[in-house]
Amino acid sequence: MRLVLLGPPGAGKGTQAELLRDALGIPHVSTGDLFRQNIGEGTELGLEAKKYMDAGDLVPSEVTVNMVRSRLAEPDAVNGFILDGFPRTTDQADSLEKILAEEQQTLNAVVSLEVDEDVVVKRMLARGRADDTEDVIRNRMQVYLAETAPLIAYYGDRIRTVDAIGDIDEVHQRILRAVSA
Ligand code: AMP
Repeated sequence: MRLVLLGPPGAGKGTQAELLRDALGIPHVSTGDLFRQNIGEGTELGLEAKKYMDAGDLVPSEVTVNMVRSRLAEPDAVNGFILDGFPRTTDQADSLEKILAEEQQTLNAVVSLEVDEDVVVKRMLARGRADDTEDVIRNRMQVYLAETAPLIAYYGDRIRTVDAIGDIDEVHQRILRAVSA
């Protein structure tokens, strides 16, 4: 199963992706986690990404797409993956289609997690990540609306909408139902 999870920052994509990884036995590929791992290891990619992440801006697509391309080429991702935080722009979505087409692959489903803004801002302030200060959260929301929300129209009828408000396990069951329908 090749799956993309869409949703605003704080919608619970990371949490739900981990539950899906365990339920479906396919890797969770989070571009945010890959960047944070690079920052932790002090790599050049990490140093470059950090400037953008600290401000809540998008890391340039070329860097991001190359990182995703190599991650998806790893053996554990050959039979499927859950993408979390990628694509974040329609250009990145085009790049993803190309990466998959090179391997005669396509996405099986695009899940859109629906939450309202009050809920996500509260969740993000509670998780206390380095880029979770109020100003940076506000900027990430604006970037989401301008750059990422257009993906809903881009994927059109490939989108499966899931109500992401409620108990973590209940939301997980809704996603499983949505992807198996
Ligand atoms: P996340 O963990 O998905 O909330 O991502 C944290 C930060 O990493 C974002 O605010 C961006 O700065 C950067 N980032 C993650 N994924 C992408 C992406 N697909 N394109 C550009 N920047 C990204």
